[in-house]
Amino acid sequence: MSPGAREVRVNVRAAALNRLDLFVIGGLPVDYTFPHILGSDGAGVVDAAGPEVTAVRPGDAVMINPGVSCYACEFCRAGEHSLCVDYRVLGEHMPGTMAEYVVVPEQNVARIPRLEPELTWAEAAAFSLVTLTAWRMVVTRARVQAGEWVLVWGVGGGVSLAALRVAKLLGARVIATSSSDAKLEQARSLGADAVLNHRAQQVAREVRALTDRRGAAIVVDTAGAATWEESLKCLARGGRLVTCGATTGPTVSTDVRRLFWHQYTILGSTMGNEAEYRTAAQALSEGKLRPVVDRLYPLSEARAALERLAGGGQLGKVVVQI
Ligand SMILES: [Zn+2]
Repeated sequence: MSPGAREVRVNVRAAALNRLDLFVIGGLPVDYTFPHILGSDGAGVVDAAGPEVTAVRPGDAVMINPGVSCYACEFCRAGEHSLCVDYRVLGEHMPGTMAEYVVVPEQNVARIPRLEPELTWAEAAAFSLVTLTAWRMVVTRARVQAGEWVLVWGVGGGVSLAALRVAKLLGARVIATSSSDAKLEQARSLGADAVLNHRAQQVAREVRALTDRRGAAIVVDTAGAATWEESLKCLARGGRLVTCGATTGPTVSTDVRRLFWHQYTILGSTMGNEAEYRTAAQALSEGKLRPVVDRLYPLSEARAALERLAGGGQLGKVVVQI
């Protein structure tokens, strides 16, 4: 497995799990080559580099952006890599990071920043997918402004937790929901201004109460079917609903009258482009957005790690040590 001219081979030290891995296990409409290697997120040491690679060199410790683009189509040339006509994700459309080695384009690695205390391999592996996804949702797509109210559903999810933290970096006021009081406590410690237990409380009513009856300017929804209608009820006039996932189901219903009358904007978002990845990595190098790791498992116990994620009890990222 030698790297191509502009590719690097990374000796993986840790791979972080995402809900995507569970979707892949469940089966996605992708032509897999078996045995398929799971894992989108990873960190490790560059072990070999193609002759045209200039960004990194062997021996560099890097984290991996799991979204691989062609870097040649019109979307890529416009800098919109997650709109690439041949966009692929490690572990989904190509062999993933739960392996000793993975080969990726040089554009897909970023040197692990030096922090005090130093980032662990697990933390570095846990950074990319959720932070990049949340960054694009909150910064680029929803354009969250300081002082705006942002509702983030299901803050136990990796993207939601990252969205809370990115929104706080921008100076927004964040309401976080979860069905777990322990996770709500964690959300508070990471900056949430208000928390709601969506199992015990009526979210739209509480959001109205918290926002002087106006509603939230932005709703971050990764759940889909279970939350969509309530999300729309939570929005302020002119509000933006941004989604990157449908963990509870893909088909939703929208009252179009409310959509036009209140002038809502519905925004889709997937992963992110290279500039967003570099900007998020820069924030990490400034000591912001340091990943929260739930548990570290050896590769031989990867199944237990996936079950931990499937059970939903985690607080932060579940990581596999390679
Ligand atoms: Zn492309």
